[in-house]
Amino acid sequence: MKFGGTSLGDGKRIRNVASLIKRYVKGNELVVVASAMSNVTDELIRLTSLAESGREDEVDELLEKLTSQHEDAVGEAVREERISAEVWRYVQRDLDGLKRAVKGVCYIMEATPRTRDLILSFGERLSTRILWGAMLDLGMPAVYLTGKDAGIVTDSNFGEAVPLIETTRLNLSSRLGDLISDGKIPVVTGFIAADTSGVITTLGRGGSDYTATLIGSAIGADEIWLWSDVDGLMTANPRLVPNAKVLPEVSYAEAIEMAIFGAKGLHPRAFEPTMEKGIPVRIRNTFNPENPGTLITRSRTVSDNVVKAVLLVDNVGMVSVRGTSIVGRPGTAAKVLDAVARRSVNVMMISQSVSESSISFIVKRDALEKAVAAIETSLLSLGIAKDVDVEEDVAVVAVVGEGMRGTPGIAAKVFKAVASKGINVMMISQGASELNISFVVRGADAVEAVRAVHDEFNLGTEG
Ligand code: ASP
Ligand code: MG
Repeated sequence: MKFGGTSLGDGKRIRNVASLIKRYVKGNELVVVASAMSNVTDELIRLTSLAESGREDEVDELLEKLTSQHEDAVGEAVREERISAEVWRYVQRDLDGLKRAVKGVCYIMEATPRTRDLILSFGERLSTRILWGAMLDLGMPAVYLTGKDAGIVTDSNFGEAVPLIETTRLNLSSRLGDLISDGKIPVVTGFIAADTSGVITTLGRGGSDYTATLIGSAIGADEIWLWSDVDGLMTANPRLVPNAKVLPEVSYAEAIEMAIFGAKGLHPRAFEPTMEKGIPVRIRNTFNPENPGTLITRSRTVSDNVVKAVLLVDNVGMVSVRGTSIVGRPGTAAKVLDAVARRSVNVMMISQSVSESSISFIVKRDALEKAVAAIETSLLSLGIAKDVDVEEDVAVVAVVGEGMRGTPGIAAKVFKAVASKGINVMMISQGASELNISFVVRGADAVEAVRAVHDEFNLGTEG
């Protein structure tokens, strides 16, 4: 069971999570994974940049805030005085460690990716320690471990480290396996791991899901439950589409697609470890535990809708490289994409016309300037292409569903729905997997486009 940040948002919620865990102790063997308390990872990122720019007063203020937040949480989550004192000792030790690391950054006004991961790791260390205390307080045989203690070993790609799968699997199954057969409940920090030299790494934002699925697959769990603050994966963002509903079942492939397009609280790589073994993953809501949530399994559910969900990615920009001089020149697409990649800009979507007279791609808006600069430098100066067009305010609408594969007429229906609202489609892309049709519209049209497709396929609740 993995618990997300909102579910651990304050001491009361942490205690609530501990009682929720307690309901399942009887008759089950459990491993618990915890995220940082809500917003703490963001605050730690902010703390690091304040420290880098040497703004010590603000650093101190934020450190104070994080200290009292965790102090309050210990007070609310753990009642028995002896346990509470012990938890507080550990929490203080970690807060000291955090302070030292951040002060170090203040002095040298620089944070390397490695330092950043060290600082970020405190979010999960603190929250997990408090959850551990609350579990002890409720009489459960909890054992605290960091992801590193548990044996998650990664490469040294700080910030987005990749697990060495076999080493990790061996470590996790023996270390956690031993604890479980001793009748203990391991409580593991999400998100953090260590490289082969034992230096702390992190698995990328939202990485606690990944921690949970790595553990679940290593120990051969029957199910992996990702507890968050939503009832499950939905047909659309309910804030944009009021009649959106929870999907009772989706396949791994669909869940991955939804995660890539930003469905709440999912790490895109989280399903890799479970796919292989076919371990079912359930998304559940700590604030509504009676709800069964969304079940994610290997099998494709053919019976229901071919289109499962309509997602919106905003804050993106579109870059188009045009010009007759690129027509029929082999390798232009490669050069364009290579120039962008070398500046570490992630390309989210690509489309090229058959005439090869234009190539368009989508990047996050905050990377737009970098992408354009990269292209202008390396291509225009070579005289390869004529023109670079930039659209700063666009959005991607992604229509996801495994049943679309081989079902004719889906794209026609999608675009008819959008056209009927008078919305102009600026770019289209469909992967050969046919799992997803994505298209780009103006930012101002995006929500209406999502609603139109959602309605066209009757994805919402009736009435
Ligand atoms: N705390 C980390 C984050 O906010 C990891 C997670 O929540 O899964 O990204
Ligand atoms: Mg999270």
